[in-house]
Amino acid sequence: MKSTIIVANWKMHHGPGQTRRYLEAFVPLMKDLPVDRQVIICPPSISLAAALEATGGTPIKVGAQNVHQQESGAYTGEISAAMLAEAGVEYAIVGHSERRQLFGETDSLVNQKALALQNCGVLPIVCVGETLEQRQSGEAQATVRQQVEAAVAGLDLQRLCIAYEPVWAIGTGQTATPEDAQEIHSVVRDVLRSFGDATAVPVLYGGSVKPDSVDELMAQPDINGALVGGASLLVESFQRICCYQSISPFGRGVE
Ligand code: PEP
Repeated sequence: MKSTIIVANWKMHHGPGQTRRYLEAFVPLMKDLPVDRQVIICPPSISLAAALEATGGTPIKVGAQNVHQQESGAYTGEISAAMLAEAGVEYAIVGHSERRQLFGETDSLVNQKALALQNCGVLPIVCVGETLEQRQSGEAQATVRQQVEAAVAGLDLQRLCIAYEPVWAIGTGQTATPEDAQEIHSVVRDVLRSFGDATAVPVLYGGSVKPDSVDELMAQPDINGALVGGASLLVESFQRICCYQSISPFGRGVE
């Protein structure tokens, strides 16, 4: 895997037509992207085929925003990991805070979904992060520690990506300070180490990443990329984020 991963989470935006138009403009802009960076576009399920077609033969990858934990069956409206793999989808976000909060997803379910993805050769991007209440009551580190422990049990660390997304920063325009983000990222790294050789696991930051905050965030030693919601919806702002300026004094990225 590349050492820096930049993921666009389009949430419930951009149908197939808009996906094609976006990628027609975006793909050519990525031709000068530094070689250490991997860009992954996660459109709504209905737009996965359009995204795969528009990025075919380019270095840009496509990911899903969710998956069902079962292989197949009577689960109306759901999509399995095997189906994603068959379609050519290489990544999938699981455990996004909107799924946890609005759809009742638990740590255990997130783990089952991640396992299902790995079983089918799709790389899970597992989201974790504390709420504002948890942060204000001093529980941010413990919350994230517990979420990571539950989510990664039984997973192959060589085929995994974690995204730390403080819930209070998602879609609010409030970004964690680079130092706060770095602090939790080092906790995530610490937990991962207790599960084995975690050097290959990229740990991304998500939560109102914008063109004007990305450079400083990416300069933190334990931040290996970004998961971007709102600012990924416009070609120009997502291009700027993907082409962030490397101002790091550290030899960052994963091995
Ligand atoms: C997200 O949805 O994962 C996210 C980080 O959103 P935003 O960048 O809009 O905060």
